[in-house]
Amino acid sequence: MSRRDELLAYAESVKGFMPRDEGLALYEWSHAHGDRAHRGTWLEVGAWCGKSAVYLGAAAEASSSVLYSLDHHHGSEENQVGWEHFDPTLVDPVDGRLNTLPTWQRTIADAQLEATVFALVGPSTQVAAHFAQPLDVLFIDGGHGHDVAWADYEAWVPKVVVGGLLLIHDVFPNPEDGGRPPYEIFRAALDGGDFIERAEQGSLRALTRVA
Ligand code: SAH
Ligand code: MG
Repeated sequence: MSRRDELLAYAESVKGFMPRDEGLALYEWSHAHGDRAHRGTWLEVGAWCGKSAVYLGAAAEASSSVLYSLDHHHGSEENQVGWEHFDPTLVDPVDGRLNTLPTWQRTIADAQLEATVFALVGPSTQVAAHFAQPLDVLFIDGGHGHDVAWADYEAWVPKVVVGGLLLIHDVFPNPEDGGRPPYEIFRAALDGGDFIERAEQGSLRALTRVA
C-alpha cells in the first residue's frame, strides 16, 4: 500500500469530526497546493484527536511542509458533559476535565507523522498573538460559537500569504443545517475581496488569497 493510501485509510479510523468525503477533499486540495508551494507552513485550529491532522499531514509530508495542529485540548462547548458530543473516555481522571492531547499524540505517532505534524497546545487567540510565521495553508475548525469563531478569523486569517489556501469547516449556508459563525466568517473572507472561493465539499470550503 502506498504511503498516501495507508494514511488515508488510517485517518478514517481516527476518532473525530471529519466525514470521509470532506477529509479526502482536505487531503486533495492541500496536496495540490503543496505541489505548487513546497516546504510551506500550515496550521489547523481545532485538533481534537488528530483526524483532520492526518488528512492534512499526509499532504504536508508529500510537499515537505509542516502542519501545526492547535488546540487547548479541553474540547468545545458541545463536547462537555451533558452535551451532544461528549465522550467519557476522553476525561482526565485527575481533574475531571476533557483532555484529547494523549489521544492526539497516539494518532500522530501511529501515523508516523511526528516529523511533520506538531502540537500547539493553548488557547487559539493567545497562541496567534505570538505566532509570527506567515501561513501557506490555514484550516479553521475550532470553536463554533460566535465570539470564538470570529476571534479565530481575526487572529489567524491575516497570516495567510497571498496565494495561500484558507479552508473552513462546518460552513452551512442554510441555517437549518447548522450554526452560523463558520458561514459568517467564510462570507467575510469572500466579501472582503481578499479571497476567492475555489472548491467545496459538504460543509468544507476552500478559498485562495488573491490580495
Ligand atoms: N478537526 C477535528 C475536530 C475539531 S473539534 C477533527 O478532524 O476531528 C474543535 C476543537 O476546537 C476542539 O478539540 C476544541 O478543544 C478546540 N477549540 C475550541 N475552541 C478553542 C480555542 N479557543 N482555542 C483552542 N482550541 C479550541
Ligand atoms: Mg468541524
